[in-house]
Amino acid sequence: MNIQHIARSKTAKTAAFSTLFSVFKILMLVRELKMDLRTMILGHFLVISLALNVGFLYRDYCKGNRHYQEFFGSKNECKNASVTLLEASPQPFSSSSSSKAFDGIIDLDHGDPTMYEKYWQQMGDKATVVINGWQFISYFSDVRKVCWFLEPEFANAIIRLHKLVGNAITEDRYIVVGTGSTQLFQALLYAVSPPNSSEPISVVSAAPFYSSYPLITDFLKSGLHKWAGDAYTFNKDEPYIELVTSPNNPDGFPRQAVVNQKQGILIHDFAYYWPQYIPISSPADHDIMLFTVSKSTGHAGSRTGWALVKDIEIAKKMTEFIVLSTIGVSKDSQIRAAKILQVVSDSHQYKGDFKEGQAFFERNYSHMARRWKQLRDAVNMSKLFSLPDFPTSSCTFSGHTFGSQPAFAWLKCEGEIDDCESFLRGHKILTRGGKHFGSSEKYVRISMLPRDETFNQFTERLSSISSS
Ligand code: PMP
Repeated sequence: MNIQHIARSKTAKTAAFSTLFSVFKILMLVRELKMDLRTMILGHFLVISLALNVGFLYRDYCKGNRHYQEFFGSKNECKNASVTLLEASPQPFSSSSSSKAFDGIIDLDHGDPTMYEKYWQQMGDKATVVINGWQFISYFSDVRKVCWFLEPEFANAIIRLHKLVGNAITEDRYIVVGTGSTQLFQALLYAVSPPNSSEPISVVSAAPFYSSYPLITDFLKSGLHKWAGDAYTFNKDEPYIELVTSPNNPDGFPRQAVVNQKQGILIHDFAYYWPQYIPISSPADHDIMLFTVSKSTGHAGSRTGWALVKDIEIAKKMTEFIVLSTIGVSKDSQIRAAKILQVVSDSHQYKGDFKEGQAFFERNYSHMARRWKQLRDAVNMSKLFSLPDFPTSSCTFSGHTFGSQPAFAWLKCEGEIDDCESFLRGHKILTRGGKHFGSSEKYVRISMLPRDETFNQFTERLSSISSS
């Protein structure tokens, strides 16, 4: 259950309790004062109003969840209530968890990067940002720049980190900041789509692709662009946009463009091209590259991403899009993101100022390695599932030789289980099914970035699910 669910359910419960309590008090008053018929009617009216209120609260709560679900493709708790009941019906597989094991819902649908909380807690004040009331009042940051709302401090922190990690070329590029790389993706679709074409340009990505790409591309039913599905099956002799996610969400493999026609515009999404997830092979050197703090440092809540763009005209049009949608990007967020990136770089470049084992990528590389081992052990115990095997290579940043240890596990249900998402939901594990990614329902995507407690509960439950 995530924070929003908890908060919403707490608010609903508190409101229901306080209404109940008030009605109880009034009814007592009615009895004590032997009130007349008119007052009794009022009492009845209040009881009915209580019933209606509780009903509305529950309905709003469920409705809120449903909107949330539609955007992210997740389940909601109201639906889960019936899932829990459905579990009483006979299942072809049984769970043999010990009586002590946690038996509540484990939500691994979203890639919410709360795994990183612990690291940042340990950083204490090193990553704290104080913003005075008078600071960052202006819309503007640096009017000489194409992206005039980009904070220079954030731009410098981005360049410094890429140079340190060696995962992207920053020279001769424009940096465009966005409210998450999600906004930058939309800005790019606007910026690279031909403005006067009679037909919307096709947008493709090799399946399995990130589930938000089709939703975002077609959200506004734009005349500029349209989702055209799996890049492997795209064979039209016409302009297209190909989204290349490397390493890929959901399956974690390194990727290259697959269509390879002359008229293609490539957008490289490097949300996960960081050394805790995959060996860095060389600095990425593409025309359009997207990055985000969400998965690099874990600060998804800051909603801050950046694009490295070669072509000034594309950078200008992206800037125009962001100006028209949000008149820039929160300076508060940029300043915070700048601080976070600086601390990440410092933790490697000035190790003496940090405790042993606090270098950011080193620490989180080990954390991911432990999680992947734990997951593979659970999968081996259960025998109902399988995971991809990744080729190993040497990381130019850390020197470690390893295979991908992605932020998501692309789990396959083996044998007779055709709908892996439903199967796991039956065991109260919420995941995102393969069809959202243009793939088979035998697969699910599982977040590898929850807090330790949730991850441990998950592997424990998974290892206990066996064929009966
Ligand atoms: N691209 C990919 C491949 C992602 O997985 C995500 C986050 N799930 C994003 C983009 C969006 O990131 P942000 O939080 O910066 O909008």
